[in-house]
Amino acid sequence: MARLVLKFGGTSVANVERIRNVARHVKREVDAGHEVAVVVSAMSGKTNELVAWVSEAAEPVAGVNAPGSPFDQAEYDAVVASGELVTAGLLAIVLKSMGIDARSWAGWQIPIHTDDAHGSARIAGIDGTAIVEGFARGQVAVVAGFQGVNPATGRVSTLGRGGSDTSAVALAAALKADRCDIYTDVDGVYTTDPRIAPKARRLDRISFEEMLEMASLGAKVLQVRSVEVAMVHGVKTYVRSSFDDPADPKLGTLICAEEDIVEQEVVTGIAFSRDEAQITLRKVADKPGVAASIFVPLAQASINVDMIIQVVSDDARHTDITFTVPSAEYKRAMAILQAASDEIGYGQIQGAEDVVKVSAIGVGMRSHHGVAARAFKGLAEKGINIRAITTSEIKFSVLIDEAYLELAVRTLHTLYGLDRKADTIAAE
Ligand code: ADP
Ligand code: ASP
Ligand code: MG
Repeated sequence: MARLVLKFGGTSVANVERIRNVARHVKREVDAGHEVAVVVSAMSGKTNELVAWVSEAAEPVAGVNAPGSPFDQAEYDAVVASGELVTAGLLAIVLKSMGIDARSWAGWQIPIHTDDAHGSARIAGIDGTAIVEGFARGQVAVVAGFQGVNPATGRVSTLGRGGSDTSAVALAAALKADRCDIYTDVDGVYTTDPRIAPKARRLDRISFEEMLEMASLGAKVLQVRSVEVAMVHGVKTYVRSSFDDPADPKLGTLICAEEDIVEQEVVTGIAFSRDEAQITLRKVADKPGVAASIFVPLAQASINVDMIIQVVSDDARHTDITFTVPSAEYKRAMAILQAASDEIGYGQIQGAEDVVKVSAIGVGMRSHHGVAARAFKGLAEKGINIRAITTSEIKFSVLIDEAYLELAVRTLHTLYGLDRKADTIAAE
């Protein structure tokens, strides 16, 4: 007998028919004698709809509220956490109709405690006592993902987009589960997003470090924090498909320690992010303190700056500084820099939103030289211009025009030998 946490994402619970299919996966594990806690996301599209309603409700209306009046982030959470409550209840109903004892749990009922960062709260602790008592009675716990409660205020909190992954892994850690299975609409972690590159290959295993980089650099298959929690607590986590036949299950991809991977490629995967915007300040005085005058105000506004490049201009008195910010912060960042133009002292400010970041990840980069250089050559041969580059121990990233995203991903995928064999593609 094992203790399992199973998580089902939005596409897997998109309607009642799919919830019935999820219930068949749960039943298989229950019939095998396992103790089971299930974490569910909202039906696909539901969280987007809820977020849009919050924005609409907060819009300025003449004579009603002032333009830009801030709304309470705790109310955002109160609204967006509702999607997961619906699917938790529906799955519990379906399980009971199949003769399986089950009940739904809201985050606050367990409770899952979080900090006070509404909208992107961090889990501070989970009391698994009541769920374990349920296991003793043979009861399946169906837990609403993505949410918790701030114990200081009693307000509902949410964990950031994609946060049900983190709910599941953190619950598995708290319950000391033998395994956490993240069921989604792909049958594992691939060398890159299979929606972009048809030759992407499923990985049997990927290390925590590489998965962390893949997720941070845009592979939305797992939320970044879920990988952190799995790594810190050593949770045995699989990514697998809910669309597999419940009677013929396959384990998918195991996220594990580097030592547990026998065959290690130099590059394990390619990730990309559309969530980038570029800002360039031209003719900035080349003197001490100028970088601080640009980046301190952005940091104070909680804007994350990612890639930074500084170019010395011909007269050695001026420089150009280029950097990237998340797309969602672009307008705010431009406004802050324009307001601070006198203190910074620049000739011109330019911005581009049609840029993307493409990254290659692999622990093999620690011991191999020239890995990034090959990419620069390969991209140049396809006529793809690189706007900025960053490298670190196990990854490098390039910023390019959005129009070249697919070509760049596929080019790097082929270049590093990640493509599936032609015969396996032909056989499909
Ligand atoms: P869920 O709703 O189950 O949480 P997500 O949409 O959040 O599912 O994540 C699954 C999606 O992640 C896949 O459909 C796939 O398009 C995307 N994805 C991005 N990169 C990868 C990758 N390297 N391997 C597998 N899937 C990936
Ligand atoms: N429903 C939430 C979202 O779409 C959480 C999740 O699916 O993991 O972000
Ligand atoms: Mg997800």
